[in-house]
Amino acid sequence: MEARGLSRPARRRLGLDGARVLLYHGVGKSKGADPRYTVTRNQLAGHLEQIGRGGHRVLPLSAAWSAPADEARAPAVALTFDDGGASDYEQVFPILSERGLPGEFFVNPGTMGRRGYLSWDQAREMARGGMRFQSHAYDHVYLTPLPAPSLQRQLGDSKRRIEDELGRPVEFLAAPYGDLSRRVRQAALAAGYRAICTSWSWPARAGARSVDRVAVYASTTAEDLARLLRGDVVPYLRRAGRSALLYPVKRAVLHLRPAWRSDQAVEGPA
Ligand SMILES: [Zn+2]
Repeated sequence: MEARGLSRPARRRLGLDGARVLLYHGVGKSKGADPRYTVTRNQLAGHLEQIGRGGHRVLPLSAAWSAPADEARAPAVALTFDDGGASDYEQVFPILSERGLPGEFFVNPGTMGRRGYLSWDQAREMARGGMRFQSHAYDHVYLTPLPAPSLQRQLGDSKRRIEDELGRPVEFLAAPYGDLSRRVRQAALAAGYRAICTSWSWPARAGARSVDRVAVYASTTAEDLARLLRGDVVPYLRRAGRSALLYPVKRAVLHLRPAWRSDQAVEGPA
């Protein structure tokens, strides 16, 4: 049973009419990247073709997020890339530039310029080429266990640093590992972010402070992506069910085994 069979009000109630904010990690071969979250260059190009075939507009995140759902048009798509890996410059930037598409890059100032990561010069070049940069916290750490001063550094200093380096406003935060709580969300809004991106795979709600994103994996085929873009309910429910099952377990592990915090994901990747 596909969501196409659902009535428009039902689709609206389920939130399937909102923008599709896609969440990518690495693209192409890169050292140290988790292969489960790394798509190939061809795969990304195929996804972009699929987006075009579906009649979706690719918009900057702020535009896709704030646009109210318009039943007369295919939902807007935003392309987000987490972690600031070198492949953002080497692989993604050329693919998007060739097609004149905007991309949204969530970076950690703490890793910029390190081996395998973007440099500030590369980020500036990308920004001049129409790409946008947002915060993935200062360092790639879990945010929920942090005391207030460290949390403020992760949220506020990362925003300021990216804005200082690139000369453009930073409006969105994506928490590393999708590790969010009410306290982290409130601190982020207090630090001046307009909204916080999650790793909960669902279409985004226009103007909501939490921006759900649809994670794209190595295993996501063009056909899988087509179903997610169309808003078929089954793949979304399948992903939600998996997250709902895994999330409490991972969170419990996180709090019982603090030593794992540095390398275990709470809510999947991000
Ligand atoms: Zn991340």
